Amino acid sequence: MMKKYNFCAGPAPLSPEVYQKAAEALENFNDTGLSILEISHRSDAFLSILADCNKWVLELLSLENKGYQVLFLQGSASMEFARVPLNLLKTQAGYIDTGVWAQKAINEARKVGQVKIVASSEDKNYSYIPQGYHLPEQMDYLHCTSNNTIYGTQMNNFPDTNAPLVCDMSSDIFSRKLDFSQFGLIYAGAQKNISTSGLSVVIIHESLLSENVNIPNVLSYKQHFQHNGLYHTPPVFAVYLTWLNLQWLIQQGGVEAMEKINRQKATMLYQEIDNNYLFFGTAQKQDRSLMNVCFRLVDENLSTQFDRFIENKNITGIRGHRYVGGYRVSLYNAVTLSDVEYLITCLKEFENEVDRR
Ligand SMILES: *Cc1c(COP(=O)(O)O)cnc(C)c1O
Repeated sequence: MMKKYNFCAGPAPLSPEVYQKAAEALENFNDTGLSILEISHRSDAFLSILADCNKWVLELLSLENKGYQVLFLQGSASMEFARVPLNLLKTQAGYIDTGVWAQKAINEARKVGQVKIVASSEDKNYSYIPQGYHLPEQMDYLHCTSNNTIYGTQMNNFPDTNAPLVCDMSSDIFSRKLDFSQFGLIYAGAQKNISTSGLSVVIIHESLLSENVNIPNVLSYKQHFQHNGLYHTPPVFAVYLTWLNLQWLIQQGGVEAMEKINRQKATMLYQEIDNNYLFFGTAQKQDRSLMNVCFRLVDENLSTQFDRFIENKNITGIRGHRYVGGYRVSLYNAVTLSDVEYLITCLKEFENEVDRR
């Protein structure tokens, strides 16, 4: 089979090594003669996987011994849009509106309490990250989205506030180094840089594990924590895939090494987009994402030709999000430098092809 170059925004590709080990475990997990799909989530084997995942997440984010707990929950980022306010919103929460995902989080929070939108980049179709805004005194938490997957913008600095900072890191967790201790709660749907869909990873400071008896147990972070993540059956396979992928990440040198490669990949590709006269980038330069590179054709009439060209090159997953159109190349951790080099060669070739006509 010809190699496919997959730049899909999510569910996103993981490393082939991870796939191979996962495939083995589907048939015979750890030489037990059982599939990973048929072992008990209370077995020693699974408990040890869960414990490793906990430990590795904290290590990779330099959050060991700082009072953080990691939860591997059935769900998705959208589930956390609801769970966060249900657990943390008592009076008023602040939200930074940087796009559709932030909007969805805002809509869920509004069902629970007061929401103050402290800043928005809607005026320019979310092509930038707002700066220099005023924060209200009273906030139960301030919610932000570190990487805006649809628009290709990324936050490089985070607001300085006394309120707990809550961050949707679905599309850039483990891709770069940050001071993660500035956040009270980090969450991510797993299908971009962690694992497969069906799992959300929540990293929460113990001080935020308060009890709200008015919400169903399955939505309560405290309940999940008190049951050691086994309040109900966790998504066992997705957790196992997380275990494999975190191991892979550590072998690559961790978040710092990953960031170095991610910067190289993004820099090369943005350079090509800026130099290739057929394309232009849609995000403001200073806020460009390392994970999702969004661009458009200068002449939209070339789109059929470009789509066909890309398909013939075995490149897939670069269609822009249906809300914004255009193109989007996602450069998550498992996308290699040589995958990006290949894509760039193809973009140049397309430029030449158009030139010749
Ligand atoms: C993909 C994505 C989501 C939605 O994730 P689900 O797991 O499908 O709910 C939310 N936020 C961000 C930043 C995303 O990239």
